[in-house]
Amino acid sequence: MRRTFKEPRPCKFCGNKAKKLTQSYYSNEPYRGNLHILKQKTHNDIHDCTLWDGETYYHNAGFFCKNKCAIEFANDIITGKIKLT
Ligand SMILES: [Zn+2]
Repeated sequence: MRRTFKEPRPCKFCGNKAKKLTQSYYSNEPYRGNLHILKQKTHNDIHDCTLWDGETYYHNAGFFCKNKCAIEFANDIITGKIKLT
């Protein structure tokens, strides 16, 4: 259940920041779009780029970085360790 954000929002449980939502570009033509190039490798005339739109971040488990964090958080609510206000 991936969720995207417009800022590197911390995981509600462990505080890990949301990751940049990137896409790969793999071609024999250099990338000419308007996405940011985070990483670029060229070998045998093949351009291998990691692209990012400059604003989108994601967590893999909704507001949590991973399923384990969401489950631990839910259990902490049941046991009363975390209180929702
Ligand atoms: Zn987490």
